[in-house]
Amino acid sequence: MYDNSTHTDDCDLDEENNMKDYLVRGLVNKRNTRVFACTTKNLVNEAREHHDLWPCASAALGRTMSATLMMGAMNKSNDKLTVTINGGGPIGTVLTTTNCDGKIKGFVGDPHVHYTYNDSGKLAVGVCVGNQGSLQVIRDMGLKEPVTSNVPLQTGEIGDDFAYFFMASEQVPSVVSVGVLVDDDNTVLSSGGFILQLLPEATEEDISYLEEKMKNFPAVSELLNEGKTPEEILEMIFGDELEILASQDLSFECDCSKEKFEQAMITLPSDQLEAMIHEDHGAEVKCQFCGKTYQFNEEDLQKILDQK
Ligand SMILES: [Zn+2]
Repeated sequence: MYDNSTHTDDCDLDEENNMKDYLVRGLVNKRNTRVFACTTKNLVNEAREHHDLWPCASAALGRTMSATLMMGAMNKSNDKLTVTINGGGPIGTVLTTTNCDGKIKGFVGDPHVHYTYNDSGKLAVGVCVGNQGSLQVIRDMGLKEPVTSNVPLQTGEIGDDFAYFFMASEQVPSVVSVGVLVDDDNTVLSSGGFILQLLPEATEEDISYLEEKMKNFPAVSELLNEGKTPEEILEMIFGDELEILASQDLSFECDCSKEKFEQAMITLPSDQLEAMIHEDHGAEVKCQFCGKTYQFNEEDLQKILDQK
């Protein structure tokens, strides 16, 4: 179900696959299921450019971004949602964060990882991420303490891990399918996914229906690459029983600024700031979410030191 293959065909798919990034939320009353689906190709391509992601890193971050955005759509308010995955694999930490407003940013520890499964040639996200670790979700609802939930990783393939999170942490049986298709030149051809969640009143019959539908269901990244929309993918599962309730545009957006870095630098030890002024004669700070750099000259640094 969690697809991702490097695309081997020669491609001239640009024209049929220039969909904007968006997410839909819906309900299938007859099946007691709520549904989410998204296409995230452009924002994952933007992340790839910011971080110089190699294909497996694009897949790991892209899958996590899609799942995080859909998780964000489950919230009614604009809470801050941060997902951190660390499975002990070569990619290190995968981190994504959104204010549940359709905007997301994120990064991986090592963007230059690339593994494929020998038998299929598919991107080995589980190998990159590893499965000895946890998936952590932090929800900041503006209360005193943010709420943190942690579950052990299952496979490191991301989709499985989010499905386990919904079951173990929220007791919601869920199907999570996320995928990223990467071209030979490392550009992202398609990215997105869907989440199907059984409502408390779901019956055995509803469960069997989903299980049956998911058997041999095509890889979501292949469907998106063929030009299928998120709505059309959900219709493949539920037909005209599907009711779309809302739609939201998605984008990569980093809210960093020189002022924010200034505030962070106030917390540095004074001797470290002194060294930046007198030994380095300035400092360059790089945003780990978008790669943008900010220059602080001696005067800037002295101002920060004075504020301490
Ligand atoms: Zn930034």
